[in-house]
Parts: sequence; structure tokens; C-alpha cells
Amino acid sequence: MSKAQIIDGKACAKGVREKIKAVVTDLKESCGLTPGLAVVLVGADPASDIYVSNKVKQTVGAGMNSFEHRLPQETAQDDLLSLIEQLNGDDQVHGILVQLPLPDHIDEAKVIAAIDPLKDVDGFHSINAGRLSTGQPALVPCTPVGCVILAKKVKPDLTGLEAVVIGRSNIVGKPVAQLLLQENCTVTIAHSRTKNLADVVRRADLLVVAAGQQEMVRGTWIKPGAIVIDVGIHRLTTPEGKTKLVGDVAFDEAVKVAGAITPVPGGVGPMTIACLLRNTVVASYRSEGVEAPDLG
Ligand code: NDP
Repeated sequence: MSKAQIIDGKACAKGVREKIKAVVTDLKESCGLTPGLAVVLVGADPASDIYVSNKVKQTVGAGMNSFEHRLPQETAQDDLLSLIEQLNGDDQVHGILVQLPLPDHIDEAKVIAAIDPLKDVDGFHSINAGRLSTGQPALVPCTPVGCVILAKKVKPDLTGLEAVVIGRSNIVGKPVAQLLLQENCTVTIAHSRTKNLADVVRRADLLVVAAGQQEMVRGTWIKPGAIVIDVGIHRLTTPEGKTKLVGDVAFDEAVKVAGAITPVPGGVGPMTIACLLRNTVVASYRSEGVEAPDLG
């Protein structure tokens, strides 16, 4: 039985980072501009701490300025909003990322709304969501951008494909669907109330799964030859006591049917931070009134 092409997210992310590094060097030399990313972490959640450290490391590795703000768990909402206001007005800062989740006493929506949309490198601000859905230049959430770059590695022109996205969250499902629409796919968005999900999935030439349900999509659901992008991440403990990561797709089954598939780990995950750096470069160019070169 033939096996699907494995889409190597690590290698693709490395390629994006290399392009970014070259563009950052050029920006510095040609107009004396160094892109800067401010990352704000409130509290000491261990997973968030690791994400932030990785973001800082990769930002510096790409030759950009990194501004790290680690605030105590009990930080008042007004103090966080004041910091964001200060970063909004700081010319050295082109991107602002507030690591989520925030502590319960802070209103996430208010914090996201306070970020200057031109510096909103997570792409969560409703101005950016609106700009994306109306086809205007926007800062687009990082994971969806990564999904589309990975799909285009397999098929550079996605025009006319039947695309099915499972999940309708604001951070993954909806923006990925918008991006696929821009790529001229015929897009179906499925969710927890979708009837006959397996039949809907069987229509897909391109399937993006962001449901947060461990190995939910079975091999029998997949159209032979389809491109499968698995966004889900679940940490399991094997009977031997080892930790294992799996996705929303039953990989061992799907790999026998799909034409190409992202693994978990090593698929979509590595693309997310690479696309954050990409968005920071895009925001830096726009601060100079120009669009960034192709960084895909
Ligand atoms: P959310 O929980 O916000 O959204 C999940 C979506 O999936 C919802 O729209 C929900 O439908 C739908 N859904 C849930 N169960 C089913 C089901 N049984 N059948 C069909 N649809 C279903 O999750 P996120 O979008 O934030 O994340 C999705 C997954 O991606 C998670 O596993 C998360 O860990 C992972 N992730 C990975 C990232 C990476 O860098 N690799 C980055 C971000 C997320 P409804 O709206 O009806 O409730």
C-alpha cells in the first residue's frame, strides 16, 4: 500500500526563518530598521514560560530585537493595559504578543482590543479579523498562516480544491478557512454540530483539522490522495510511562490513505513561531509604509 508524503514542518519552519533572517539583515542595512517583538507574560504558567522562552530565542536568532516583559500573576488589569499603551507608542516595537491564557482576573478580550492592530502579530484583534475577511492587508493568526504554507509546499496552487476545515475557533478554524478562500478553494467549515462529519471529510481534497479531539479523524474518513494538515496537539502517557504527542488525526491510519500529511509532532507546531517572526517582519515593513517581500 502506498504511503503519504510526510510534510516536514520543521524543515519548512527552518526555511521561513532563514528567509526572515536575510530580510532582517537587508532591512538593517538598507534603512537602519531592526524589527522588534515585545512579548508579555503574566504569571508563571510552566507551558507559557516555555513558549515565551522559545519565542524570545527565535526572535533574537533571526537578528531582531526582543523585549521581554514578565509580570507577576497578581498584576492588575490596568497595569497590563498601561504597559500595552506604552508598547503601542514605542517606535522600537513593531510587534506585541501577550501570551495567553491570562490570569482569571484579567479580561483577555479587553487586552487584545488594547493592542495597536498594526502591532497585533498574533492577529487576534477584531480589526485584523475583519481585514482578513474583507480581503484587506491584515496581520493573520500564526498557526493558520503556517497551515497554508505547509499545504502549498505540496501543491503550490490550491485553486479549485474542496477544502474542509474542522473547527471554527477565532484563532485557528475561522482564519484558516478565510485564507483558503483567498487561495480559491471551495471551503466547508465543520464543527461540533456538523452532521455526518465523516461524509463531509470524505469530500476534502485538502483537510485541516483543528478540533482539539485526540485522533478523531480516522483513516476511513479521508479521500485517497488528500492533503491532511493536523493542527491538534495532545500529550499522552504510553503504557510504558513515556510521553507521546498525537494529533486530531489517527496518523497511522491516515498515512495509508492521504497523499500528504503533517505529522504530530514536527508538522504544524514548528510553523507557529516561524510565522510569528514573519508577522513581526510584515508589521515592521508596514511601519515604513511598504509591504514585506514574500516570506512564505
Ligand atoms: P477550540 O477548542 O477553540 O476549538 C475547537 C473547534 O473544534 C470548535 O469549533 C469545535 O466546535 C470543534 N470541535 C470540537 N469537537 C468536535 C467534534 N467532535 N467534531 C467536530 N468539531 C469539533 O480549539 P483551537 O482552535 O484553539 O485548537 C484546536 C486544536 O489545535 C487543539 O488541539 C489545540 O491544542 C491545537 N493548536 C495547536 C497549535 C499549534 O501550534 N500546533 C496552535 C493552536 C491550537 P464548536 O465550535 O461547535 O464547539
